[in-house]
Amino acid sequence: MTTVRTRIAPSPTGFLHLGTARTALFSWAYARHFGGQFVLRIEDTDVARSTQDSVDQILESMRWLGLDYDEGPIYQMQRLARYHEVIEQMIAAGTAYRCYCTPEELEAMKAGQEARGEKRRYDGTWRPAPGKVLPPVPAGVSPVVRFANPEQGVVSWDDLVKGPISIANEEIDDLIILRPDGVPTYNFAVVVDDWDMQITHVFRGDEHINNTPWQINIFHALNAPLPRFGHCPIILGDDGLKLSKRRGAVSVTAYEEGGYLPEAMLNYLARLGWSHGDDELFTREQMVGWFDGSHLAKSPAQWDPAKLAWVNAQYLKQADDARLAGLVAAQMARRGISAAADERLAAACALFKDRCSTTVELADWLAMYFAPVAPTEQDLAAHVTAAVKPALAALRERLSAAVWDKAAISQAIKDTIGEHKLKMPQLAIPVRVLVCGRAQTPSVDAVLALFDRDTVLARLST
Ligand code: GLU
Repeated sequence: MTTVRTRIAPSPTGFLHLGTARTALFSWAYARHFGGQFVLRIEDTDVARSTQDSVDQILESMRWLGLDYDEGPIYQMQRLARYHEVIEQMIAAGTAYRCYCTPEELEAMKAGQEARGEKRRYDGTWRPAPGKVLPPVPAGVSPVVRFANPEQGVVSWDDLVKGPISIANEEIDDLIILRPDGVPTYNFAVVVDDWDMQITHVFRGDEHINNTPWQINIFHALNAPLPRFGHCPIILGDDGLKLSKRRGAVSVTAYEEGGYLPEAMLNYLARLGWSHGDDELFTREQMVGWFDGSHLAKSPAQWDPAKLAWVNAQYLKQADDARLAGLVAAQMARRGISAAADERLAAACALFKDRCSTTVELADWLAMYFAPVAPTEQDLAAHVTAAVKPALAALRERLSAAVWDKAAISQAIKDTIGEHKLKMPQLAIPVRVLVCGRAQTPSVDAVLALFDRDTVLARLST
C-alpha cells in the first residue's frame, strides 16, 4: 500500500484564513490517521503579491494550531529550474507549446468571439497539429507556454467530498502554464509539485474545482499518478455570505489575539464541514482516530461565533491554570498592563475561568488585580451607602490586622456583619464595588485573598 501523503499549499498573499486552516486541519488529520506524511508548501509564484510577512504569519498560525508538518516549508519560487525542465519535456512531447500571441491579439480574439456570441477561449493559433503550418515566430515577443489540452473526451474524478464530477474537454481551452517572465502558473506548478512530492490526497477549497480538470489532464500528460481530490465547500459567515476579510476577523492569528485556545479552534474548525456522530467536543487525538475522509459535508458550513465561544469556554474550564496565567499575562501586556504569570495569577484564573469564554474575558476580570478600578457612579450610589460606611471602616480595620488568607478574610467579614447587624450581601456587594469595581464576583473572601492587602485597604478607604 502506498503511504498517504497530503499537503497544504497556501499562497503568501495575506494571512492564513480560516478556510485554509480548516483544509490544513483535514489534510493533517488524514495523513496522521493513516500514518502518512503532511507537507507544507508555500505557493509564492504570485511574486507581486507574495510577502515575507505573510509567510511568517502562515508559519506562526500553523505552529499555534499545532499542525506539524513532516516536510517543508517548500517554496515554489525555489523550484523554477524544475518547472522549466518539465516544460521543455512537455514541449518536446507535444503536450505543451509556445504561443507568441501578443496581448493585443488576444484582446482582438476575445472581442471577435464576443461579437459572434461565442464562448471566450484561446483559438489555437500556435497549437501544433499534424500538417499544420504555424505562423512565423515574431521578433521581440516573449512567448508564453500553453498546455495542449485534449480536444475531446471527458475529465472525470470521484471527489472525496462531492462525489463523481465530469467535465467535457470541449469546455476548457489551452491554459497558459508558463508566463513570459519564466514563472509558472498555479495549475501547472501545483501538478509538478504534487507529483514530485508524491501527494496522494489533495484537500482544498471548492473554489478550485474548475481548475481540477486542467490539473488532471496535465497529470496524464506527464504520465504521473493521479492523487485523489477532495473539494471542501466554502465557509459562510453568520450573515450567510462568504466569509471574507471585510466581514469579521478571518485570520487565524486574530483568534489567537481574541483569546481563543488552539485546541478549541481546531475542534470548532473540524466541525465546520465534518462530523463524527453527534460529538461536539473531542481532542485532536480523537479526531485523528476518526478522520478517515468520510463524513465530509457537501454543503457549506456556517461560521457561528457563539458556538465557537461555547467550545472555547469548555476548553478554558479544563485548561491548566499555569498555562492560562501565561495567556492572560499576554493579554494584559496587549493592554499595557504588566502582570507576572505567577501562582497568584494562576489561582485567579482558576477562580474566574468558569465564567469566561475567552482569555480576553478572563483578562477583563483579572485586570482589577493589576490596575486601578473605576466603579460606576450608579453602583457607588446604590451599594456604598452612608448606612454601610461604618461597617466598611470596621472591616478595613479588621483586615489590616488579619492573617492574609481566605479563611481569615471570611472571618473578618462575618465578624463585621455580626457586629453591624447586616446580611452578607449588604457588606459583600459594597466591598466588591470598591475593590473590584463591580457588584458581582465569585465568593468575595476568595477574590480578596488574591489581592495584596494594601490594595484592598486603599480601595476600602475611599
Ligand atoms: N495556493 C492555492 C491556494 O492557496 C492552493 C490550492 C491547492 O491546494 O491546490 O488556494
